[in-house]
Amino acid sequence: MRETIGFIGLGIMGRPMAANLLRSGYAVIAHDRSRGAMDELAGAGAEPASSSREVAQRSDMTITMLPDSPQVIEVMDGVLAGASPGHLVIDMSTIAPSVSRELAARAGELGVEMLDAPVSGGDVGARNGALSIMVGGSEDAFKRATPVFEVLGSTITHVGEAGAGQVVKACNQVVVALVIEAVSEALVLGSKSGVDPRTILRVLSGGLAANRVMELRGRNFLEHDFTPGFKVDLHHKDLGIALQTARACGAVLPASAAVDQMLESLRQSGHGGEDHSALLRVIEELSQHEIGTKPAAGAA
Ligand code: NAD
Repeated sequence: MRETIGFIGLGIMGRPMAANLLRSGYAVIAHDRSRGAMDELAGAGAEPASSSREVAQRSDMTITMLPDSPQVIEVMDGVLAGASPGHLVIDMSTIAPSVSRELAARAGELGVEMLDAPVSGGDVGARNGALSIMVGGSEDAFKRATPVFEVLGSTITHVGEAGAGQVVKACNQVVVALVIEAVSEALVLGSKSGVDPRTILRVLSGGLAANRVMELRGRNFLEHDFTPGFKVDLHHKDLGIALQTARACGAVLPASAAVDQMLESLRQSGHGGEDHSALLRVIEELSQHEIGTKPAAGAA
C-alpha cells in the first residue's frame, strides 16, 4: 500500500510539489502556518492538519519545504513529537548542512529516519515535476523515498550521508550566483564600450562562455525585468550557507564573498524581493551605465 505523505510548507515550491503528489494518487496531509495556502491545497484534495505534530501523527513520511534553518528546526520539534519509530522525514528546503546533520542525529535517536533533499529547478521545475533532487542520508531511506522523488523530480541523485545533499546544493548556488555576476560584468563591459548587449549574449551563447543563466535569464537582463523567479533574499541566504560551510571546513571562496556583499547591497536598497538576475543593477550602478543605453562620449 502507498505511504501517506505529510507535507509542511506550501509556498512557491511546496504547493505545486504537494499538488503533484496528490495528482499521482498519494494521500497528502498538509500544513502551513498560512491558512490560505492550506485551503488552496485542500481544494486539490489534501487533508489539512492544524500542526506539524498532527501531520507526523497522521502520515508515514513527512516532507518539509520551508524557507530556512530556523523554520525547519521549529517544525521538526513538532514532527518529532508526533512521529512514531519508522517515520521518515524528508527535508527539501535549502538549509545549512550542519543543521541537517544535527536534525538527522536527533531524529535517529527516536528511531525516525531523515533525508536532506534540497532541489534546483525553481517553481517551473516544481510545477512540472522536473526538479533536480540531491539527497543526503542512508541508502535504505533513499530507496524508500525514491518513488516519491520520482513524482517530484527528473534528476534524482543520492550524493552521500546526512548533510551531503545540502553541501551539493550550496555548491550549486555558488556557481549560479557567480555566473549571474559574470554575465552582468560582461554585459556592462560590452555595452559601455558601445556594443549592443543582445549581440554580446548571442555571440557568447555560441562558444565556451555559453551557460544556462544567459539562456533562461537573457531577456530579463536586456529588459531589466527582475520579476522573480528566485529571489535575491533567498540567494543571499544560500550564499550565507555556502560561506558558513566554507568557514567550517577551511575552504576559501573569495568571489562568493564578494557576490554575497552585492546581494546584501541589493537587499539594503529595497530589491531583496526581485529576481537574482537583479545583480546586474549592482554592476550597472558601480559602472554608472545602464546596458542598452548609449555609452558616454569617449567611453568606447
Ligand atoms: P516560500 O516562502 O514561498 O514558502 C515557504 C512556506 O513555508 C510558506 O508558505 C510559509 O507560510 C511556510 N512556513 C514558514 N514557516 C513555517 C512554519 N513554522 N510552520 C509552517 N509553515 C511555515 O518559499 P519557497 O520559494 O517555496 O522556498 C522553500 C525552500 O525551497 C527554500 O529553502 C528555498 O531556498 C528553496 N528553493 C526555492 C526555489 C525557488 O525557486 N523558489 C528553488 C529551489 C529551492
